[in-house]
Amino acid sequence: MALSCAPRILSTDAGTVRTPTIVFLLACLALGGSTGAVAATWEVLRAQEIAQCQAGEIATWNDGIDRPAVAKHLHFYYSHVTAPAWFDEATVLAALERAAQAWSACGLSLSVAALAPGQSLPDDAIAVQWSETGSRHNFGLANFSHRSIALGPSAFQLLQSRNPLYDARQTLQMVIAHEMGHLLGVMAHSRRCVDVTSYYDDGRGGQCYVRGSAQRPAGVEYRSSLPTACDIQRCRQANALDFGPPDSAAKP
Ligand SMILES: [Zn+2]
Repeated sequence: MALSCAPRILSTDAGTVRTPTIVFLLACLALGGSTGAVAATWEVLRAQEIAQCQAGEIATWNDGIDRPAVAKHLHFYYSHVTAPAWFDEATVLAALERAAQAWSACGLSLSVAALAPGQSLPDDAIAVQWSETGSRHNFGLANFSHRSIALGPSAFQLLQSRNPLYDARQTLQMVIAHEMGHLLGVMAHSRRCVDVTSYYDDGRGGQCYVRGSAQRPAGVEYRSSLPTACDIQRCRQANALDFGPPDSAAKP
């Protein structure tokens, strides 16, 4: 049976959104990466797509409606309790900080802090924790009404058991940035393959797209681990912070 990097879009619940499925990531990892001149071509294109959002490129799967962020100031508090053994607290915090730093280009205020064991959450906190119940067996799940991000222990456990040599920090980074985007109001999944908020297909034959109708390379992760220029643009639009390109925003 041929393996595919296409994720399945599962039904979504009100207020919650899911990351790509375990099957998708395991399939991608099993296939491995491509090498040589072909890889160099798509890597250049991918880097361009990450850095630049061209007119007309934004498209979604229409599986949600973008809206303003869960709060104007987003204070993420991370609890390391029940984290997988191969992720230390500093690693997860660093991934959260990278995601918050990248999403701050949207124009909102984001901060990240560690929650000590036994410490109660501040009133304005957004909880980030490892929870099988909260993640519903996904890698991650953002819950808008509960103001939380749940990371899935069993999903990462399965990834580790199937691919013990794979550095799961890349997946962790992607999951965190994806879920953070939902809490910033980017609710619908992008149809632009490279976006951190993307899904590769809809499970019914529809495919994400690559700039210039290029073929998405098989067997590699094309999706960015951090928000792209189009992710940031959608976040600005969702929050009525659409200042236009950065250079025009700097003009008097
Ligand atoms: Zn999602």
